[in-house]
Amino acid sequence: MTRDAIRLRRVVRTFGAGDATVTALHDLSLSFAAGTFTAVMGPSGSGKSTLLQCAAGLDRPTSGSVLLGDTDLTSLSETRLTRLRRDRIGFVFQAFNLLPTLSAEQNVALPLRLAGRRPARAEVRDTLARVGLSDRAHHRPHEMSGGQQQRVAIARALITRPEVLFGDEPTGALDSMAGRQVLRLLRGMVDDDGQTIVMVTHDPVAASWADRVVFLTDGRVDGELDDPSAEAVVARMTRLEDAPC
Ligand code: ADP
Ligand code: MG
Repeated sequence: MTRDAIRLRRVVRTFGAGDATVTALHDLSLSFAAGTFTAVMGPSGSGKSTLLQCAAGLDRPTSGSVLLGDTDLTSLSETRLTRLRRDRIGFVFQAFNLLPTLSAEQNVALPLRLAGRRPARAEVRDTLARVGLSDRAHHRPHEMSGGQQQRVAIARALITRPEVLFGDEPTGALDSMAGRQVLRLLRGMVDDDGQTIVMVTHDPVAASWADRVVFLTDGRVDGELDDPSAEAVVARMTRLEDAPC
């Protein structure tokens, strides 16, 4: 039986007020099964980042609920939401967001330190090994390639063993070879460790590594594709763009 790792129910997110109100998510309902890899696609401004931020507890919906396992994120106090994000959610960004003065090892250990735990060296080393960077433990971000920096960011997101790993265009700043390495790593985490991953991407090839693609248009789910090939994703995107308004 498949279990949902995360579930959005009738989520609305508006920004601003009065005439200037923007509705980024319109009554959106969506589930992500545990141990699956989902890509979220859609035109710029379609609500992809807002969806990810609401699902990850980085932003709060205006209405509706977000369930992580049995926990409703929208009912949590700010303090408990912060703790949940730290303990149960991983997030990687397009721009890596590593701390420039810290080594790879120190960056990876950071979430544990923030949780008040003294990180075990083996734990940090194992996580760096998982992303293929055992030999970069003492390097600082500027001494590494973009692909290596993103893999450090993934290790940092994984060190707390999060229930869901979110990525907002995690390969968007990488060349195709480094991007492929990151995607292979993400795919392996799903296949080998049962990790749940939700990734926003613009790239049909990146999306083809996922089990499912969810298409957003104007803050609404506008279709899905299972076991996507890059060609099928391109065909689907072209159809959306050609659709009459
Ligand atoms: P995407 O990631 O698909 O490009 P976003 O989720 O960033 O889309 O944005 C969806 C819509 O919400 C856009 O119209 C955007 O301008 C608006 N929006 C997003 N964040 C904010 C914000 N903090 N303040 C005002 N409007 C926002
Ligand atoms: Mg975005």
